[in-house]
Parts: sequence; C-alpha cells; structure tokens
Amino acid sequence: MADGKAPQRKTIQATGQMMKIMSDYFYDLNDAAKSPDRKVAWCTSVGPAELLRAMGFAVHFPENHAAMLGATRMATELIPEANTIGYSPDICSYLTADIGAYLKGVSPLAKAYPGIEAPPRPDVLVYNTNQCRDVQDWFSWYARELGVPCIGITSPKNHTDVTDILIDDVTRQIEGLIPPLEQIAGEKLDLQRLCETVALSRECTELWRQVLETAATAPAPLTFFDGTIHMGPAVVLRGTPQAVDYYRQLLGELQQRIAEHVGAVEGEKHRIYWEGMPVWGRLRQHSELFAGLQASVVVSTYCSSWIFPDFDALDPIRSMAKAYLGLFIVRSDAYKERYIKTMLEKFQIDGIIYHDAKTCPCNSNSRYGMPQRLERETGIPSLVISGDLNDLRCVSDEQTRTNVEAFIEQLEEKRC
Ligand code: SF4
Repeated sequence: MADGKAPQRKTIQATGQMMKIMSDYFYDLNDAAKSPDRKVAWCTSVGPAELLRAMGFAVHFPENHAAMLGATRMATELIPEANTIGYSPDICSYLTADIGAYLKGVSPLAKAYPGIEAPPRPDVLVYNTNQCRDVQDWFSWYARELGVPCIGITSPKNHTDVTDILIDDVTRQIEGLIPPLEQIAGEKLDLQRLCETVALSRECTELWRQVLETAATAPAPLTFFDGTIHMGPAVVLRGTPQAVDYYRQLLGELQQRIAEHVGAVEGEKHRIYWEGMPVWGRLRQHSELFAGLQASVVVSTYCSSWIFPDFDALDPIRSMAKAYLGLFIVRSDAYKERYIKTMLEKFQIDGIIYHDAKTCPCNSNSRYGMPQRLERETGIPSLVISGDLNDLRCVSDEQTRTNVEAFIEQLEEKRC
C-alpha cells in the first residue's frame, strides 16, 4: 500500500462453524471408508451428488481434495509425480496434483485432521463431463489403480439453451446409473429419499445464491476470496441439512453487515468481477493485494457455479439433468457473455479480471476474444492475468501485482 498501512479485510465470524461442519464431514467420510456397512462414492464437483447421497453413499469430491492441495501449496511439488506416469504438465493441475499426492502417499487431510491418513477408498467413481474431459480421465486412472468401477455421464457441451432434447439425454444417462449403483450400494433407490435430498440441495443452492448476492450491495459484505472458502459446504455437503443450516447462519451475518454498512474491504472504491478459477496457493496474497488497493472483488463466475436454480424435488432426476446442463462452464460463449453482462450490471462492476489458468482451458474464457467483445459492448475495462489454479510454476507474483496495480490505477483515472 502506498501509505504503508496493512490492508483491512473483515473476518467472517461464521468461519468457525464452517470449519466444524467440514471437519465432521471429513471424519464421517473416513469412518465410512473403514466401516464394512457403508459405501463410499467419489463424485465430480458438479456430478450427480444427490443421487449418490440418496442411495446412502458417503460422497468424496476429489476436486475439493485437489483444491486443498493447492491452498496448502502442496500441489506444485506433487504434479511432477503424475507427469512421470504420463499425465502432461499441461492438463488439469487438480488431476495431476491429486494423482501425485496418491502416488506420494500424502494428503492435506492428514495435516488438518488428526487420525485421517488419506482420502477415503472408493467403492465406485462417478463423473459428469459437463465441466471437462479431464475428470473422466482422472477417475479412470483411479478405477484402474484401485480396481473399482467408474461410471458417469457424458454431457452435451457448448449449448446456448438447455433444450428438452439435451435434458432427455442426460436424464436417461442419470437413470442408467441407478442399476449399477444399486448393485454396489446393495439397496434399491428410495425415490422419496431422492426427492428429500434434491429439496435440500435446492435449499442449499438458494441460500448460497442469497449469500453471494449480498455482495451486490455497496460496500460488499463479502468478496470472491471469502466465497472460495465458504463455498465448501455447497460443494461437498449439498443435499444435507448441515449445509442449509450453515448458509442460514452465514446469510444472517452478511445481512447484519449490510444493515451496518460494513464492507469486507475497508473503504471499497472499485468493484471487480473475477472470471475464472482462483489461484488456490495465492488466495491470501490476492485478497490482500486487492484490499490494499481498495478494490473489492465482489463476484465471480466460479463461486456462482454452485447455484442450481433448476433443482425440483417434484421431478428429481430430470431437474438434476437440467441443473447440471445449465452450468456456466458447459454453455456457449453467447450464453456466457449474456450471463456476465447481467452480473456486471447487478453487481455494479467497474472492471473485470480474467484468470487465464494454464491447465484449465474450460475455466479460462479469455482465449477467444471474450474480453474484447464484452469491453466493446459494456465499456467496462478488463485485465487478463496468467496463472494457474494449482501449479504455482505458472504464476508470476510480480507480474500479477504490477498488472493489477496498473489496472486499478486505470479504473481510478476513469472515475475522475
Ligand atoms: S474444470 Fe478445469 S480445474 Fe476443473 S477438473 Fe476440469 S480441467 Fe480441472
């Protein structure tokens, strides 16, 4: 900071409760893996978690584990382990970090939760390629390594509208998962339980939307960087009452901040949209960098990806198909641009940061002219920063700082 003062960011009180429910979740997963009476499913982050949960599986999300590898800065050293067995440094660094961690026999869970040594051993691996093909390759590797079945949904991609034909396709694919899952679970799918699980996911997602939309207020009571931490329950506990209770509590705290005009960033002057993945190993630095420039990163595509307004307990399977087809990442550029424009207006955005993540092309929307098109149409300036979600060898801290500082200065000049 120019005046040498430490940047001011407000701590969210509910964080303690979130850590508790996440801890309970990991210990329960660990117990499930050891119990002969319980089954564990691994699921992609936007895979059919509701179905698995309703069938009694304890559900582990390898992307969550990979993000922990990134946030604890363990990932960069582990990626070469996966490279040596043929997984390129250019592909998803969640995949390479997670497989690298397995090969090395290490896990951030072991450091954070005494008594847990590793992610739970799966009985089945279930993916949805709506986000990318890498998840299928990732799970297929474990299937071969551990000798467990790997099943999933091959999702249509690049659609502007979620049409009935697409929903029919994915609905049939989800239905096709049920018989093999019943066989592994040793029990029939209870439709009533599925309806209840989808209802809980719907409630979770609705509360998560309200949490994120508190940041439409100026000053914003939470930032993108807070969101990346607090989205944990929406990712790994959707479909449970714990996630619903947690987001009620968090929402209450943020509404209180709004009532008291308390912003997450002291003296908020600039409001930024973050497009793309976070750099997990640089969350704190980036949060401080923006706060120090009185810039609040108020909204992101990434955190909003766990808002699924289409879940419907009255039509659980079809509504899951619709929800998982409606994701931002799986849509066409025409849809994405329309969506971002709506968000820019809703959140009163001054500038956009695009994170071009080296190993995640699907979440990097700066490569085919989108920043230029959106800037032309909205007049809102943007900056592309090069980096990666997990591989810190792709991140230049100095360049990021210089570019962000220059960008905020440009926004400052625009205000005058
Ligand atoms: S979307 Fe990107 S980060 Fe996520 S699994 Fe796919 S390649 Fe990896």
